[in-house]
Amino acid sequence: MRAWEANIRKVVPYVPGDQPKGDRLIKLNTNENPYPPAPGVQDALKRMDYDRFRKYPDPAVTDLVHSLAEYYHVGDEQVFVGVGSDDVIAMAFMTFFNSQKPVLFPNVSYSFYKVWADLFRIPYETPELDADFRINPKDYYRENGGVIFPNPNAPTGLFLPLEQVEDIIRHNQDVVVVVDEAYIDFGGTSALELVKKYENLLVVQTFSKARSMAGMRIGYAIGHPDLIRALNDVKYSYNSYTMNMPSIVLGVEAVKDDAYFRETLKKIIATRERSKLRLRKLGFSFPDSMSNFIFATHERVPAEKIFEALRANQIYVRYFRQPGLDNYLRISIGTDEEMDELFAFLEKYLRSV
Ligand SMILES: *Cc1c(COP(=O)(O)O)cnc(C)c1O
Repeated sequence: MRAWEANIRKVVPYVPGDQPKGDRLIKLNTNENPYPPAPGVQDALKRMDYDRFRKYPDPAVTDLVHSLAEYYHVGDEQVFVGVGSDDVIAMAFMTFFNSQKPVLFPNVSYSFYKVWADLFRIPYETPELDADFRINPKDYYRENGGVIFPNPNAPTGLFLPLEQVEDIIRHNQDVVVVVDEAYIDFGGTSALELVKKYENLLVVQTFSKARSMAGMRIGYAIGHPDLIRALNDVKYSYNSYTMNMPSIVLGVEAVKDDAYFRETLKKIIATRERSKLRLRKLGFSFPDSMSNFIFATHERVPAEKIFEALRANQIYVRYFRQPGLDNYLRISIGTDEEMDELFAFLEKYLRSV
């Protein structure tokens, strides 16, 4: 080994879902929204003055922070914005998880948590979900250096009722508790209402799923002003200009159109519920999803086989080659037409094997 290699930070990176190219494919593998962003976003994009690109963007992201604060009825000083919730959560790990004690997150949850913990050399433990993929709040009563979990959880889609979320926070008031609500708009109740009551709670959400803007990379956190100040101090010590100008402008536009947002959510939820019925008829079972994906296993045919067959037919879903998860497919909810094509294929395929 060359001497300088000893000083290289060694990490096993997170592996995002494929972004395959082509027009005829059906992409149900990364929980993107099948509908376009609010029409106002497109109008603002057309009006955008490219001469503004000469200048640095607003490092404080003032306009977008303000829009989000108004939308959620909190103070501007309670909102932090970052480059997708991945950036926000990475900042939260760096800012809040500096104990010698392990950070806790479920063994089955967003697989990026482990990667950030390793990257930042944060010790962690991963309490197991129960046999039905549920989080048991009692697993989070032990001493720790911080807690984070997605709600609804990924890739299971299960929502942990707010009383149980509060139970976890109540038992962990000496550390920061982060609730990652990437999928909360698809049916759960947000922990945002608990922010008033618990100054150690940070709620993280994103524009990538429910707001159809994964490509713009916008995420945000809401919490006590002291938490937000701490996040900003770390951000300004790392990179002041994380948010680019178009993302800030278009993010503000997206928040303005609540009617469109609600309409899109309603459609996706209706498609999800219809998809549950179809999948059940096809012999699949799954935890009852409150997100925009379904984590399904088939009664007879191994998930990996179905995954390969789908992919060969240009239908992409997510498969995790991981003990405990490797007989499941995570299927994002697309349009009704996309789901119908998926079901038509599955019906034929499952009859043939
Ligand atoms: C998609 C997702 C994120 C990250 O989304 P961004 O695109 O970075 O905002 C974070 N947490 C969970 C659980 C997710 O599924």
